[in-house]
Amino acid sequence: MIIFLFVDGLGIGKRDESNPFYVGSFPFFEKVFRQNTSYVDAVMSVEGLPQSATGQTSLFTGYNAARLLGHHKEGFPGSRLKDLIKKESLFKKLADQGYRPTFSNAYLIDDMEALNRQRFLSVTSLMAMTVEKKVRGLRQLAKGEAVFHDITNQSLADGSVPGPRQEALLARFGNHVDRYLINAVPEISPEKSARNLFEIARDHHFTLFEFFLTDKAGHEGDMEGAFAVLKRLEIFTETLLGLMNTGRQTLILTSDHGNIENLSVPTHTYNPVPLLIAGRGERYLKGITSLYEITPSLVENAHFLM
Ligand SMILES: [Zn+2]
Repeated sequence: MIIFLFVDGLGIGKRDESNPFYVGSFPFFEKVFRQNTSYVDAVMSVEGLPQSATGQTSLFTGYNAARLLGHHKEGFPGSRLKDLIKKESLFKKLADQGYRPTFSNAYLIDDMEALNRQRFLSVTSLMAMTVEKKVRGLRQLAKGEAVFHDITNQSLADGSVPGPRQEALLARFGNHVDRYLINAVPEISPEKSARNLFEIARDHHFTLFEFFLTDKAGHEGDMEGAFAVLKRLEIFTETLLGLMNTGRQTLILTSDHGNIENLSVPTHTYNPVPLLIAGRGERYLKGITSLYEITPSLVENAHFLM
């Protein structure tokens, strides 16, 4: 069993005043980033700052998507990358081998027809929808059978989600979300959220969770905001690892590009990203130096790890 935490915009930076890891106190991350972590290149020999669409496609297909397009592409994948994701994604490769991958994140709109009509789909959404043919919604989230992207459901509880963009989407898709369901979702601790994710993972071979508040905090450049986001992620990750049987199970944490580790610039960075591997996978997933080497290594070693 593998639990894969995909953390958007998390690089390994310099030990200076612009790095929240250095300015703040994150003892668990400091320990595991020292002991269980290698550095992975996100630039992939293509000019320009690494971006999400190409970084995530490379990470989850095993192809250098930036080289394929000739540039780094931000935001959401276009038609060429979408085709690649549909044919070559990690979820598809695992499912083809008979394994059960799942995306644990909860969606505000879980109606597949409505989702398929959306123009902009993230790499992970497209990968999960193509293979699982469904996503988790608020009903599951309220029961603890899904994890919200912010880990604790805080943004639902305090009303910042749905935001204006999501409100517009919800209006467009009519009655696909029952408002009372949003109110039925309790705010939970990062520890409780980790236990929920672990329960989902017990029923699957490969469980993905995506966290992107790190990237948002990196763009905003606020040190206190970055501390809060990283602390939440740290408690969540540490609790999760504590629940796992590391003799048989594997925890992986990685990113698509740097950002939050350098708050002196509002952009992404050229820094390498951490590839944290804890548990059984430490023995098998070795020698990975670039984003697009992660999926092939996972697929090749699946029978040792699932
Ligand atoms: Zn970004």
